[in-house]
Amino acid sequence: MTSSPIVVQVVVDKPLAQGFDYLWDVKDLGLEPQVGQLVEVPFGRSTIVGLVIKVSTHSDYSVDKLKNVAQVCPLSPLDAATLRLMNFASQYYIHGLGETIIPSIPKMWRKAADWTKNFSKIHQSASKKTNKKVAAPLEADGYISETQLNKVQTAALGELRKKEAQEFTCFLLQGQTGSGKTAVYLNWLQTVLEEPNSQALILVPEINLTPQLERRVRAYFPHKKMVVLHSGVSENKRGLAWYEAATGKAQIILGTRLAALTPLPNLRAIVVDEEHDSSYKQQDGIRYSARDLAVWRAHDLKIPIALVSATPSLETWLAGKSGRYQHLRLDQRAQGAGLPKVNLINTKDARNQFSPGDEDRPIEKISLSKPLVNAVRESLANKKQSLILINRRGFAPVISCNACSWLSKCHQCSSYLVMHKAGALGRKASLSCHHCGLMRPVPSSCPDCGNVDLKPLGQGTQKLEDAIASLWSSARVLRIDTDSSRTSKGAEALFQEIHNGSADIVVGTQMIAKGHDYQNIGLVAVLDADSRLFSQDFRAAERLFAQLVQVAGRAGRASRDGEDGGNIYIETQFPDAAVFQYLLKHDVDGFLSYIAGEREEAKLPPFTYQGLVHAEAKSLEKALHFLGSLKGRLKGAGLITKDLQVYDPVPRSMMKIAGSERAQLVVESSDRRTLQDALEWIDRDLREISQGRISKGSKVRWLIERDPISI
Ligand code: ADP
Ligand code: ZN
Ligand code: ZN
Repeated sequence: MTSSPIVVQVVVDKPLAQGFDYLWDVKDLGLEPQVGQLVEVPFGRSTIVGLVIKVSTHSDYSVDKLKNVAQVCPLSPLDAATLRLMNFASQYYIHGLGETIIPSIPKMWRKAADWTKNFSKIHQSASKKTNKKVAAPLEADGYISETQLNKVQTAALGELRKKEAQEFTCFLLQGQTGSGKTAVYLNWLQTVLEEPNSQALILVPEINLTPQLERRVRAYFPHKKMVVLHSGVSENKRGLAWYEAATGKAQIILGTRLAALTPLPNLRAIVVDEEHDSSYKQQDGIRYSARDLAVWRAHDLKIPIALVSATPSLETWLAGKSGRYQHLRLDQRAQGAGLPKVNLINTKDARNQFSPGDEDRPIEKISLSKPLVNAVRESLANKKQSLILINRRGFAPVISCNACSWLSKCHQCSSYLVMHKAGALGRKASLSCHHCGLMRPVPSSCPDCGNVDLKPLGQGTQKLEDAIASLWSSARVLRIDTDSSRTSKGAEALFQEIHNGSADIVVGTQMIAKGHDYQNIGLVAVLDADSRLFSQDFRAAERLFAQLVQVAGRAGRASRDGEDGGNIYIETQFPDAAVFQYLLKHDVDGFLSYIAGEREEAKLPPFTYQGLVHAEAKSLEKALHFLGSLKGRLKGAGLITKDLQVYDPVPRSMMKIAGSERAQLVVESSDRRTLQDALEWIDRDLREISQGRISKGSKVRWLIERDPISI
């Protein structure tokens, strides 16, 4: 044979900067190679799944040493736009191309041995599909037609529609909770999807948001194929949904951040709901922001995207103000209800505390202030539901010995073991670490001094549930947190109990506050806002404000014109803090402009750009030393200038998790490019002394993060 061999470059899911060359035998494989093709290749002593990123007739290695591609996946290759997105993500987030692409493909397609079986299974199920009866859209499912929209909603819809499908525009759709943002964007997508085969991507932050929204979206598109993608969907279902999205069979893709990288050949519009939510940021592997990638994708494809929120992130809000994004506003509740009244309860004020002898004093020592207890009682009398939030699951965050100073510390983490009462996690009461998962029985006596008098300190959801149940014995009390939703029928069943009115008082973590459209909430209380007020993370106040607005948004949603919008109670020792004062006035823009001022003055993001180098080792000294010498090399190379700040290495706020000690190094610049160059330099530098992402001698595991959201 005279023809030159075909060489393909393949990337795999390993922390490597480049791909590997393989030979492609057309006769053996039965088809020509194509960029984007998923393949199985020999790797070390076994085989591995990879993706073809280049086809040529040349290799920098000697061709006769190259191995052959073993098998080709029957799926069509990833399309060019998806590969551009992957390339961008890989470069911007300083992550290998293979470890960006391969993990974004559902597990079902990552096992070469199952390819043929899975592919034929999918074909069978696709061909035997019968036409399901299509029900008319129901208002009960949250269907609001275009003609029902109010004036402000109609105006916003008009603006969205003005943009041709072939033009990039980023909209910020800002409006208070319950103003009908969802109704507006679903009506918009209806127009977009009139074009046959066109696809729309709707991103939402959390799994627990999707069931209700799913029904609502379906009501708008009874004739379209919709798929749902989130981590709660089984691997097989997800593999199928991904396949239907990637082949254009599904038109509506509703999912969490992991849906952001799904191949969508006919994508025409994107919506990012609750765009400010921190769960859009991936926290392991490639640490991307699904929102930011969605904006990049829309820009690349020249399509419109809508970022939706009642409390936009500072980044997005500033872009809206400056005109870079088109700012659309909905500034009244859709059904005319007033805004909930915000009540700040100063817990330092003696008048708000119970004194001995008070009639309604809770028997258990828990922190429920007098005004709050009165409000719950009134709410019960009015047959309205109360939501009480505390961001701490378990019975008590720590137990202590009264005789010595023993505390239930986790020996693997810099945190405490949380006490869970009997029946919550296991049959007996137990101690559990919420960071590493360590479980221990509650000791019958102090491990240090033998004293049997061990006391739970502080309160969590379980303790609050007990106390409330004993305070109002005839009320139906429901607890919702990750523990209760795991042990019973699941979160959705618990939320349903709120919806159908079979709970009077709901105690839970903030997972009950997101997105749900409850109809009969009279009161929402937040007990532990202060714990999030002071934090070394400069975004803490922004996050707390957004959460409180969300929480407040659960109250009085279904009230009609003239009725009040319910009440929110916040227990705090610092009622004068800016977060609370702006919340009191429902002044989202005022608050954002206040923190914008603070950030600008302190030269913090979004007025500057940050990268983070993470280091993890057996000892903190090792991790700090590793980062210290990196800083030394940056200095030596003349990279630390007035345009590029490199801070000193410091321990992470959760210094130790599951036995490894963690430290970080912040790199900062007011110029995006300068920061990018520096991070790429660091990546090359560290790779030289590492095997993958573990340094050779000292065995420090490192990772570079672009645009960190918690530092
Ligand atoms: P948001 O997304 O801003 O929180 P939603 O779209 O969920 O607001 O609307 C809040 C509630 O108001 C929902 O129950 C919705 O069905 C209802 N709603 C929205 N727009 C209208 C309207 N124009 N007329 C009547 N009800 C509406
Ligand atoms: Zn003791
Ligand atoms: Zn632990």
